[in-house]
Amino acid sequence: MEDLGTPVLDNHLHLDPEHGRGFEAVRDFARLGGTHLLVVNKPSWHLGVEAETGEDFDSVFETTVNVVSEASELLPGRAWPVLGVHPGLVSRLVEDRGFDPDEASDLMRVGLDRAAEFVRAGDALALKSGRPHYDVPDSVWTASNDVMRHAFSLAADLGCAVQLHTEAAEDLTEVAEWAEARGLPAHRVVKHYAGGRLAGPTPSVMSEKDRLEVAAERGDPFLMETDFVDDPDRPGAVLGPKTVPRRVRWLLDADHDDAVAIAHVETPEYVYGIDTEATLSR
Ligand SMILES: [Zn+2]
Repeated sequence: MEDLGTPVLDNHLHLDPEHGRGFEAVRDFARLGGTHLLVVNKPSWHLGVEAETGEDFDSVFETTVNVVSEASELLPGRAWPVLGVHPGLVSRLVEDRGFDPDEASDLMRVGLDRAAEFVRAGDALALKSGRPHYDVPDSVWTASNDVMRHAFSLAADLGCAVQLHTEAAEDLTEVAEWAEARGLPAHRVVKHYAGGRLAGPTPSVMSEKDRLEVAAERGDPFLMETDFVDDPDRPGAVLGPKTVPRRVRWLLDADHDDAVAIAHVETPEYVYGIDTEATLSR
């Protein structure tokens, strides 16, 4: 196993041992010097769950919790679950299952309530929410924003962070203000799949060189991710599990040691309250 001399955290990926590469992906990550993972549950319908009640999401969350405990055994650091309701579910409910937007919002909120119970019990680190990244009718957009604001209220109450899936953007200050208004500090809102610069939430930067260069030059808090989907039907989609350790090596070779410390030690502590150094055993 390679040692890059620093914790190396992939802030957002999925693992699906049943259908995808699962723990092989974790081994690849660790072999290249990766140490910590935040594993996000797959969208419920990808696991064949057509939820009708909040409790119907539990099996999706339990799957991720179980995967994370096994993944932790393979890492020099550890993994944590991030649980929530994928914002794309709203379209599936409205277009395919005959829900009106308010009903869809209600179901997604009770799903988030269940995810919050996992955080409350100490079985998950953070929540996942957001809004569609594609054009939707106004009523669906409004319903989605309501769901996202509910996630902020839950996270404020729990004292945890929220990862967001949103449209591509460099300015989400309005969204960060919604969080602040509910008692959740803006920096505990994380935009996943981000570019190198973002106003409002903390960016979780997709680990492509051009995006990372921008983030590293800025010197502001940021995280690094792949959004590895672990879906055998979409092998080329997003980045592979080796990417974050490879890009950390590349940043270190370019004398961006400060940026590496920001993304893998300081920002994880600042956003999630996790200590990636103390949880490292080697
Ligand atoms: Zn994802």
